[in-house]
Amino acid sequence: MLAWKSVKKIDGHIHLIPDEVHKANSEAQDVFSKAKLRSYLEIMDRYNIEKAVIMPFNDPALLSMQFEISKGHENLWKILKEYPDRFYVFADIDPSNKPEKSLDLIKEAMENYAFSGIKFHPANSAIPIDSNYNDLLFEYAWEKKIGIAIHAYPNTKNDLCAVSRIRRVLSKYPKLKVMVSHMGFLEFEGLLDLDCYVDISAVLPDYVKHFGLKKTNEILRSFSVDRLIFASDWPCSRIIDSEEIYDEYYKILDFCQFSDQEIHKIAYQNILNFLMES
Ligand SMILES: [Zn+2]
Repeated sequence: MLAWKSVKKIDGHIHLIPDEVHKANSEAQDVFSKAKLRSYLEIMDRYNIEKAVIMPFNDPALLSMQFEISKGHENLWKILKEYPDRFYVFADIDPSNKPEKSLDLIKEAMENYAFSGIKFHPANSAIPIDSNYNDLLFEYAWEKKIGIAIHAYPNTKNDLCAVSRIRRVLSKYPKLKVMVSHMGFLEFEGLLDLDCYVDISAVLPDYVKHFGLKKTNEILRSFSVDRLIFASDWPCSRIIDSEEIYDEYYKILDFCQFSDQEIHKIAYQNILNFLMES
């Protein structure tokens, strides 16, 4: 069995803050102050991460100093242009825009910048995932076979990103290509019979804390290895420091004793299938 640290990987969900935002917030000490391109490139080399998917926040203030989605997209595209073999980028949504405007900005990003998907973050946007606001965007993603990532770390049954709401979206748009980020946390069982991928970002150490290693392994396997996507949410974590994230992930995943072939699917192939399938 290969060790997770040394195996070639794609991280399906990370965050980078563009340099102009770092410069304007040079005193910042929060977790986002760590989300620097140079730091992450070093981490990629150290941990055998060949590529990573950069996820936006549905909060334009984090990606440009003009606080505009078009500028945020441009900043992410600059990273992609400099390192086309290291990153994929998902398009962003500003909830203060009308849905038609959000659609235009997403189309522009997909067509001009070759972005790879669309990120929906109900906790940041305050737009429930099953809101009518998203209909135009879902229809576009469906028609163009573009993958969408949905933040799903619900705290209550009626949370804006509750799994019941994701189920409603998928019953309305059954062919939508969906990756549910953070596995729906404690509502993971509601995702088991859905046709979607799940990314294990942020949630893995939380599962171990809640359920222990053995049960965490069972939860992962209950999805089948064809649907699991390796992802970290670097540099964000609810319970550990940014610097500990990858070592902690590898410790947990090594414990799970997936076969080499299973590791390759989770660490590399599934995210490619999700991004490229049409
Ligand atoms: Zn995230």
